[in-house]
Amino acid sequence: MSNVEPDPQESTCRSEPSPASRLLAGREVVIGTRGLPVIRMLPDRRRSLIGAWCFLDHFGPHQSGPHQSGPNPRDGGPGMRIAPHPHTGLQTVTWLLDGAVRHRDSLGSDQVIRPGQLNLMTAGHAIAHAEESTPDAPRVLHGVQLWVALPEQHRHRSGQFEHHATLPELAGHGFTATVMIGELDGAASPATSYTPLLGAQLTVTSQARIPLRPEFEYGIITLTGAAQVDGVELRPGTLLYLGTGRTELSLDTTAPARLLLLGGLPFEEEIVMWWNFVGRGHDEIVQQREDWMTGDRFGVVAGYGAERLPAPPMPNARLRPRGGGR
Ligand code: MN
Repeated sequence: MSNVEPDPQESTCRSEPSPASRLLAGREVVIGTRGLPVIRMLPDRRRSLIGAWCFLDHFGPHQSGPHQSGPNPRDGGPGMRIAPHPHTGLQTVTWLLDGAVRHRDSLGSDQVIRPGQLNLMTAGHAIAHAEESTPDAPRVLHGVQLWVALPEQHRHRSGQFEHHATLPELAGHGFTATVMIGELDGAASPATSYTPLLGAQLTVTSQARIPLRPEFEYGIITLTGAAQVDGVELRPGTLLYLGTGRTELSLDTTAPARLLLLGGLPFEEEIVMWWNFVGRGHDEIVQQREDWMTGDRFGVVAGYGAERLPAPPMPNARLRPRGGGR
């Protein structure tokens, strides 16, 4: 996944723990050369971080059109097509509910991901990757991509890619959970994280109570269906930020619904996000952009030819920390 807004706004992200919950409407953004519409939930003007989670796109369910024939056959066909692009200072987390997406990166990884599996790429100092629907992918594409900010002591590490085909499941009264990353009520994911973090898909069938850690802050979205979360009706397209200080979360539904629960220790470092980079200041981001456009820092995604996403121009103003509160 790439942030391909033509004029990406800088985001300086600083956490501010708060017990209050807050509904935040996502905004539609179109990504990739096939024009895949996504709902961007993070960063939001009012909330940039949930723990170290710093980016959340919910795409689909997207029904692809008929396969097109054109000068470039790769422009037709279903779903997602995002050419090689760089990342720094973050992990990407890809999770599907429907469809199939092929990931290739500059480490040489080549992995198709399917529903219920986890692709986790740690960018560290530098990595490049591409993501596209496979030619034989199901016609419906539905999933999320998230980014996790890496803490200072790990953000310059070498790149790494993990695929987890099976993940721990948890069953409780009125719900089941698949733990993508972190630990929920004793079920721990093998995925590598560098800060205390939780990402879990919940399937809720009736009244349920999910155990939470009071020192974590949490946010939740609905992926399919609708649910009452802490008494609030939550449908796809809106993020409910839950703050810290909770020991459990009450959920209810009249029909099965799937939700994504995110949590983590409030991330204390200020970060600057611009395009596909997470850094700590303006000059560092300028250098990363320059390295993508001119240098070999990010390596090559084998098998993709010469195509790559160009970085947008830097904004005229310096990227600067903003006030807190989000
Ligand atoms: Mn990406």
